Amino acid sequence: MRTPLVAGNWKMNTTAAEAEQLVLEMLEKLDSIQDVEKVLCPPFVALVSLNMMLQGSSIKLGAQNMHFETKGAYTGEISPLMLSELCEFVILGHSERRAYFGESDEVVNKKVKAALANKLKPILCVGEGLAENEAGKTEEVVHRQITAALSGIEPVHELVIAYEPVWAIGTGKAATGKQAGDTIWFIRDILAKMWNKQTAQDIRILYGGSVTGANIAEFVSRPEIDGALVGGASLKAQEFISIVEQTAEIKRRNN
Ligand code: PEP
Repeated sequence: MRTPLVAGNWKMNTTAAEAEQLVLEMLEKLDSIQDVEKVLCPPFVALVSLNMMLQGSSIKLGAQNMHFETKGAYTGEISPLMLSELCEFVILGHSERRAYFGESDEVVNKKVKAALANKLKPILCVGEGLAENEAGKTEEVVHRQITAALSGIEPVHELVIAYEPVWAIGTGKAATGKQAGDTIWFIRDILAKMWNKQTAQDIRILYGGSVTGANIAEFVSRPEIDGALVGGASLKAQEFISIVEQTAEIKRRNN
């Protein structure tokens, strides 16, 4: 039985003060929702204060990126060791990192290894672009991204994968439940072949891309989809709460 997970990726939004305010608006209600793992991924500068605010709550923190080295002469970078004091999760290989910061599959692989070595749970993002989707290359792209990102890594249950078709991110044009579900089945099959069936069954695979309170049910009512990575809608307290609540209710009902 996989515990559903809903993570909010705040991207480069909120000052530290705004992040604290947003957490205040969500804290009580979000904390009370059971049977779903709830993860907030604010900007780096808010991790310290949110870590303190969330002590004793059931809400977990994640970072949005990290360097793969533990320490050293990498001006401006944040290491897995630094993050390990503050959060449990880290988003890796997000399509915005790949597109705007030139992150290759090889770099993502180094980051996944470094995260695991520092006891951080990676939320590994994969997904095809619009042209690749239209050319029928979704499976080819996702297969390449997953096998490259996990190359040289032993089976590990702490990994979370987010299938995020790039054309659905921030566009308001979400995939259909079936599109997301089919690719998620395919991802589980890659994991089963690469690692083993049991690990493939245990790993949580999320959908991400224009998830809102109005469409979350379409995704989480499918047994193969274990939750969502939410961008824009995670910046609205009531909407994020609603996404998490619906996930909890639907998964409880279906189990
Ligand atoms: C994301 O950035 O991971 C994401 C899914 O964004 P949005 O929900 O805004 O499409």
